[in-house]
Amino acid sequence: MLVSRVVLFPLPAQGHINPMFQLANILHSMGFAISVIHTRFNAPGGVDSRYPHFNFHLISDPVTEDNSSTPLSGNPVTAINLLNARCAGPFKLCLSRILSEESNGTVRCIITDAIWCFAQAVADELNIPRIVLRTTSVHSFLVYDALPLFHQTGYLTNMEARAEEAIPEFPPIKVKDIPTFGANDPDSTFETLSKIVGETKKCSGLIFNTFKELESPDLTKLGHQFCMPVFAIGPFHKRFSAAETSLLKQDRSSIDWLDKQAPQSVLYVSFGSLATMDKTTFLEVAWGLANSGQPFLWVVRPGSINGTASTASEVLPGEWAEEVSGRSCVVEWAPQQEVLAHSSVGGFWTHSGWNSTLESICEGVPMMCAPCFADQMINARWVSDVWRIAINLERVFARRDVEESIRLLMTTAEGAEMRRRVAALKETAAACLGSGGSSYEALEGLSKFIMELRNQP
Ligand code: UDP
Repeated sequence: MLVSRVVLFPLPAQGHINPMFQLANILHSMGFAISVIHTRFNAPGGVDSRYPHFNFHLISDPVTEDNSSTPLSGNPVTAINLLNARCAGPFKLCLSRILSEESNGTVRCIITDAIWCFAQAVADELNIPRIVLRTTSVHSFLVYDALPLFHQTGYLTNMEARAEEAIPEFPPIKVKDIPTFGANDPDSTFETLSKIVGETKKCSGLIFNTFKELESPDLTKLGHQFCMPVFAIGPFHKRFSAAETSLLKQDRSSIDWLDKQAPQSVLYVSFGSLATMDKTTFLEVAWGLANSGQPFLWVVRPGSINGTASTASEVLPGEWAEEVSGRSCVVEWAPQQEVLAHSSVGGFWTHSGWNSTLESICEGVPMMCAPCFADQMINARWVSDVWRIAINLERVFARRDVEESIRLLMTTAEGAEMRRRVAALKETAAACLGSGGSSYEALEGLSKFIMELRNQP
């Protein structure tokens, strides 16, 4: 019998590549053959040798052919529009070649990132079902879906003046949490985000990297609002790690350093793969960490300090280095999942990307949040106000706030309560993956669903 094949197309950004490859591994372990279409830009290095069991198809997209361009720097909405405009044609060509020449009619469906807005039209034209992987939480997705409502209600105009206003339809979300991507032109941002949701609504099935017990009311709400089947099969990374698809080299000296620290004493600090901060804020972070007296492991990604090509050690003053000597480790990129699972780590100061949030929950690590854009403000509001496992510093902070928040998280009874609550979520996450658990069942359902999408030739 011919094996059933699934063709995946990740968005070329770290927070999207990781869950898509984890999903590819999960489906492969369920017996599916895997093809991955990818751009040259941000192609995870050495995938051919790391994934010899997958077929890879590089599309030639003019965004990246000059290889100096970095489409994801600058405004993310502009980047999303650019990637969509440039990749549509090459993707269609590549997919039709796979469908006609290589796969011998065995392709059951394509699975694309939701942000590829053109993919549904291509799938319809080539007569192949499309499943969407949405790499946010379900809650964030529902907020994105409500953008037209926010537009009508006027929340999107004059956002600054109304920042603290609550949005009654989405408690405890406030106007300032609505994803704007820092754009000067909220209308065009709104148009792009609405298009992503609109095209997602036309797909055959929707996959989330979450688990039912974490977002039960929102999954129910989604079921009422969307007509396609929804599969909450996360947390993906507890089945397959993301280390293999890291775009930057993970510095393992951070683990050696953690091995020497006391249990739950270290604050891990990382703001993900895209967020940047200006030099003034960077120094507030640095001095807040120093003044807290707490040991810390800090990831300072190259290029993440706005307006400078300098590395952390070039920007950080000598007296800061003296102050934190013996209780700090600064690296450019870390093996994050391993770091969060390390017994020395007691807290995570994060930008609240969904992968980081889920990875922290699954290791029972309470958080401090400094969200920057997209769904990060929603995640931060949610972990602090609904699950109550984090402190939300929001976007503007000074060293004094940093210092006080670190003390609260790491040394007080209130911090211990957050740790206790997130430890309970960790247990639930582990249970849902086991036989009979919600994600286990949903994955079985997804596998069956894919098998029924197209009849075997
Ligand atoms: N990550 C990592 N090393 C680091 C920082 C982050 O491997 O030093 C990984 C992290 O485990 C997560 C991804 O990068 O899987 C970041 O995704 P997330 O959604 O949290 O944020 P984004 O980078 O998309 O803003």
